[in-house]
Amino acid sequence: MARDIRQIRLPDGTMVPALGQGTWFMGEKRSARAAEVAALRRGLDLGMTLIDTAEMYADGGAEEVVGEAMSGRREEVFLVSKVLPGNASRKRAIKACEDSLRRLGTDRIDLYLLHWRGGVPFSETLEAFHALVRDGKIRAWGVSNLDVDDLEEWVALADGNGIAANQVLYNLTRRGIEFDLLPWCRRHGMATMAYSPIEQGRLLGHPTLTAVADRHGATEAQIALAWVMRHPDVIAIPKAGRLVHVDENRAALDIVLSAEDFAALDAAFPPPRRKRALEML
Ligand code: NDP
Repeated sequence: MARDIRQIRLPDGTMVPALGQGTWFMGEKRSARAAEVAALRRGLDLGMTLIDTAEMYADGGAEEVVGEAMSGRREEVFLVSKVLPGNASRKRAIKACEDSLRRLGTDRIDLYLLHWRGGVPFSETLEAFHALVRDGKIRAWGVSNLDVDDLEEWVALADGNGIAANQVLYNLTRRGIEFDLLPWCRRHGMATMAYSPIEQGRLLGHPTLTAVADRHGATEAQIALAWVMRHPDVIAIPKAGRLVHVDENRAALDIVLSAEDFAALDAAFPPPRRKRALEML
């Protein structure tokens, strides 16, 4: 099954699965650790080999969980981590990355993202990203929570082209990016990573979602994921700490939504008609 998972091409030609695994809230409780590691490893078994983490999550604890899950399997994983805005200066970003590598128990991060915009000029963060690539500590870099105006500022920098992906909030209740941000990223050849694709569980129980799920003999979470993954250049990164959720999420890739499903979902969760400022969690 792992080999069958749909892949998305990043700007440098690297292929990554359209469905990855998030890790926010992992690493917070010692008692949950074994289950979290097992869930991530099950995801790897199923081909969900893109793992998204961040130095912020559990103050580095999530990276340690990911490190344990990757133990002996590093080559299978496309590893994404993020630097906090307060650590995104030329000097601090290098140290932050090295700290992440230590917690992750690896010598490189495949994609390193600026978590959101803070007070540090983009030019400094970009300089640090280039230095980290030169030193082999990261393979590619990108951003998160940046709207079109921020992205335009970034790509206007010298050497600013090369953002591999923009990771943003996207699900049925957060469709603002469809108006301008998603088309902008598409035009500029960068992938979009959809975080909180099931709105951290708050989407579950919506009657329209239930109706569509019933038609497919699927769960509401699966429909929410299949809907996000309908785009050829969007990677969904649900977080699942339970094996049953991991299995369910993988199966969402096999659901083909019909025109009738899309119409029902559009009626319940209308697409944007005008610019909406990018939301973030
Ligand atoms: P999600 O929308 O992925 O929701 C996660 C919640 O949904 C968990 O409680 C999980 O439960 C539950 N869940 C997962 N699969 C199922 C299922 N099949 N059926 C029912 N419930 C399910 O929210 P997140 O905010 O975690 O977003 C995903 C990832 O995106 C994060 O973990 C993080 O890696 C990234 N992210 C990035 C941000 C950024 O600023 N760049 C911001 C927010 C998230 P359980 O764990 O018990 O299985």
